Amino acid sequence: MIFPPDNVKYLVKKMVLTLGGDQAMCQSYRKVCACGQSVSEIFFGKMVLDERCVAQVYCPKCSQGIDRDPENRIWDNGWILELNMDVVRTQAHLMGTSPEEVNASWVFDEGFATWVGMTPDDFQTREVERSEIQKLAKTDLRAYIGAMRDWGLNREKRFVHEGWRKAIARR
Ligand SMILES: [Zn+2]
Repeated sequence: MIFPPDNVKYLVKKMVLTLGGDQAMCQSYRKVCACGQSVSEIFFGKMVLDERCVAQVYCPKCSQGIDRDPENRIWDNGWILELNMDVVRTQAHLMGTSPEEVNASWVFDEGFATWVGMTPDDFQTREVERSEIQKLAKTDLRAYIGAMRDWGLNREKRFVHEGWRKAIARR
């Protein structure tokens, strides 16, 4: 089996980046945390990184006692996204940085490896909250429409208030 040389892979990725990296083509990846009780969904912006760069995810229950290592871990409200920096460094140039400079926080904040939503389990809580409101639609349509509108606005405010990294960075 013949693998394309590294420079070809580099050029293909570079082309995607240059073309603006169609958002629809970006991948996401669900990862169960270290204790197995929670699931996070991770988004790889601009198609540079993939699941090989994710070493571990810790939820607030299993992040206790984990070292705060700024080099390979991103802390977000008790959750930790731990990256495999050996993999990340090989892609540093594609992200517009260098293997010496790249660190996990930067990768996260630039969206190369980040949560799909505002929080690690946004994809789950969003559905739970939405279906709660949808129950209203059966009894009170006007209240339902108002509740849906308020839900979106309040959600955003709540994430900022709770201190989620992506919500704060957006302000
Ligand atoms: Zn856990």
